[in-house]
Amino acid sequence: EALAALIAKRVLDVSDFPQAGVVFKDLSPLFADGSAFRTVIDGIVDHYGRDGFDVVAGIEARGFVIAAAVAYAVGVGVVPVRKAGKLPRQVVSASYELEYGQAVLEVHADAFVAGQRVLVVDDVLATGGTAEATLGLVERAGGDVIGFTVLLELAFLEGRKRLAGRPVHALLAV
Ligand code: IMP
Repeated sequence: EALAALIAKRVLDVSDFPQAGVVFKDLSPLFADGSAFRTVIDGIVDHYGRDGFDVVAGIEARGFVIAAAVAYAVGVGVVPVRKAGKLPRQVVSASYELEYGQAVLEVHADAFVAGQRVLVVDDVLATGGTAEATLGLVERAGGDVIGFTVLLELAFLEGRKRLAGRPVHALLAV
């Protein structure tokens, strides 16, 4: 459909980044195109509806860009899900496996009002580890995850399997 094509045209394949053998999908051209960026943000808002969520949680760092725009569009707030050690107050944290080693994500323990409907956003869904950790964090912090949305899903990595039963939405899947 139109939205998917609009994204597909603005993704660059970068070979051997961040390491040999990996083809990194660079969405910088999409973010840099004002008209395309607005269309994509509006597409997310349309999918969930203007009253479909109470707050948007963005995953560091490109998720912040998307989260802020979606939140501004409907007049709700933004909660950052951050890498370890960045948030100043009490956090809930989750560690998850990367290809090599581990990573930790954190959110402030009081980031959500109990039952608040949370839309979680990121740029890319790959293996699903980041999303799985984040959705668990949001719930432990009291939020009710009503959706997880990405601009681009790398379907061959089968991240959706890890998120079975979760409300996952991708504007473009490749
Ligand atoms: P996952 O945990 O393997 O699903 O990786 C998803 C996370 O890594 C997201 O936060 C993405 O921003 C980032 N990521 C993984 N692969 C890519 C890519 O090809 N392009 C851009 N970001 C990626």
